[in-house]
Amino acid sequence: MRGNLGATDQTGTIGPKASETARELLSMAESMLGGRLSQAGIRPQEEAVRRYILTQYPLLGRAPSRQEIVAALGLRSADELQRILERLHSIDSLYLDNASQEIRLAYPFSTVPTKHVVRFPDWDEAKPVYAQCAVDALGIPFMVGHNASIGSSCAHCGGPIAIEVLDGAIVAYQLAETVVWVGTSRSDHAATSCCPTMNFFCSSPHVQAWRQPQPDPTGHELNLGEALYLAKGIFEDLLKVHSRTELSTRTRPQSHDQR
Ligand SMILES: [Zn+2]
Repeated sequence: MRGNLGATDQTGTIGPKASETARELLSMAESMLGGRLSQAGIRPQEEAVRRYILTQYPLLGRAPSRQEIVAALGLRSADELQRILERLHSIDSLYLDNASQEIRLAYPFSTVPTKHVVRFPDWDEAKPVYAQCAVDALGIPFMVGHNASIGSSCAHCGGPIAIEVLDGAIVAYQLAETVVWVGTSRSDHAATSCCPTMNFFCSSPHVQAWRQPQPDPTGHELNLGEALYLAKGIFEDLLKVHSRTELSTRTRPQSHDQR
């Protein structure tokens, strides 16, 4: 079980497992991402920028630059893009770096390196991407519709974690007792509150050891099937249309956003 990940290490396919805890966490999470977008009444152009950034991440291995976004979407100016990015930041769809105002992350992706690296073995055009947390890493294959190889490490001991997702199920993983801790303590932005607590662990005892010194270790330990269910539920629909008015207002002149 501790050898290189491969056919001989498979421990059986793990599909998404809808336990009571996993369902509860999903309903909490829905108000953070997809649900939050709908509730915010996101405008068509904001939705176009959000979608463009997410679709470009795996192709570029990073967020697209502002110039790339303006050019690709035919925006009128950098100021217009800035207003849109600030709005997406305000609803926690992405996170702008305080100092540089660059796109630091757009859930589930991070431009800043993290310990969760996602590769796409069957997708030639794609580059490796960093995921914001363990759940985001598991959600990426569902969002982009491609198989994925996740490389991470135990947040307690640093031991390597490797997970293969094929056709929406985990088909191989090491180490054998891998679990996920899902922290539920959340403030304004997920990136600065609960994300850092959502990690893979090589075993349940290492979750317990890690939790001891944490300031607010509120959350749940999930097995890989439960974590996969949560990740699928959060991210599977994130690239589907969220603006109800996207089609009907395409020719409507854009008014200035007075906020
Ligand atoms: Zn460990």
